[in-house]
Amino acid sequence: MNLIYPPICGICGKLNQNSLCKKCEIELKKQEEINIINRNGEIENKYFDELMYIFKYEGQIRKLILDYKFNNKSYIYLTFTNFLLKNEKIFENIKKYDKIIPVPISKKRKKERGYNQSLLIAKEIATKTNLELVNNCLLKTKNIIEQSKLNKEDREKNIQGAYIIKNKQLIENKKILLLDDIYTTGNTVNECSKTLRQANPKKIGILVIAKD
Ligand SMILES: [Zn+2]
Repeated sequence: MNLIYPPICGICGKLNQNSLCKKCEIELKKQEEINIINRNGEIENKYFDELMYIFKYEGQIRKLILDYKFNNKSYIYLTFTNFLLKNEKIFENIKKYDKIIPVPISKKRKKERGYNQSLLIAKEIATKTNLELVNNCLLKTKNIIEQSKLNKEDREKNIQGAYIIKNKQLIENKKILLLDDIYTTGNTVNECSKTLRQANPKKIGILVIAKD
């Protein structure tokens, strides 16, 4: 994919080389709600060990993520990535991992959208940290109904068995950071983590832009 991204702030659209202008950065900063959740109540019964997020999934952030995902504004990924890497707490925590894996999308979805929104962010993080991007281990083989169109009860069933694992040796004994855009019920990243566990990673952490 050779998309050319405009040198603009992903939020206000003004010319900017860092994809986020000072004014919008200050606004984003106000909405920031960095959190790193380790094994406690909320993720106790999950297949992953840690959950990191930057924002609550609401208001302007929600709108930005939807634009980035569905309205052909994929360049907003740079805005998010630059913003999250500026946070020292997140940056230091990310660096503890060995490899970064984006939550995969199906071939059909890729064709419709033209890009995997999580891969764009994961690639950028890999470029700016010591993490290695791995995009040939976790694959989505089932075309499922879009999770956001289902109620919470049906999401868990819908996603079951949607992923497969290949090249297990790339994951074995490694600390894996799984990247997704939003965390709502957690079913998607949990199913991915369950699949990744087949390859015996040392640790699985989840990084998302926003959490419900
Ligand atoms: Zn701006």
